[in-house]
Amino acid sequence: MAPQNTGQDWAKLLACAAVMQLDFFRQLTTRLRAAIQPLAAVSTAAKGDAADLEETARALLRGLGCAALAAKVRVRWNGRMRSTAGMAYAGKSLINLNPRLREFGDSEVDRTLRHELAHLLAHHRAGRRRIAPHGREWQQACRDLGLTDEKRCHDLPLPRRQVQARHFYQCPGCATVLRRVRPLRAKSACLACCRQHRGGRYAEQFRFVKIPAPAA
Ligand SMILES: [Zn+2]
Ligand SMILES: [Zn+2]
Repeated sequence: MAPQNTGQDWAKLLACAAVMQLDFFRQLTTRLRAAIQPLAAVSTAAKGDAADLEETARALLRGLGCAALAAKVRVRWNGRMRSTAGMAYAGKSLINLNPRLREFGDSEVDRTLRHELAHLLAHHRAGRRRIAPHGREWQQACRDLGLTDEKRCHDLPLPRRQVQARHFYQCPGCATVLRRVRPLRAKSACLACCRQHRGGRYAEQFRFVKIPAPAA
């Protein structure tokens, strides 16, 4: 029958068109995949990683009875970070980690994750109360998250934007600490004290004395 045949023809034609389209798309996607392969591989790995870390963070928080924060917390790798190992954004319940951390092994990634998570936890527990970034509340949160003796700053050799001061001097008069990248060569005295007590003239009495690096 004519109408039926027409129907079949149309079906064939459509099927054929579909196959052609499929071939076209297959070629296109193969070409595209080849072009974006390296990028896709990196971002999938990084995403998978962050998802695992996020799950770890959620499990830790649930274990401490913080289901509300556990539901909100997010963990991301941030390739723009340089010398900072991690950052916690309490308002967004977000933790950013420096991808270079992975060069120092899983334990450093885990330690930094917990350090930053402690900031979120301390903030969450404090509610509207303002707390010091690395104060008592944070230290307690660190202990709760299994970090004992956590320092406020990491000591990983991540690149620094600024050159670190390695030489420290103190004024015997006012106890001001002078931080220097290079050691002092000439005799140098505290300007504030020399101005106040010696009319701005150099006084041996206020000469800077070398001291060990103060605790950060
Ligand atoms: Zn911190
Ligand atoms: Zn002084």
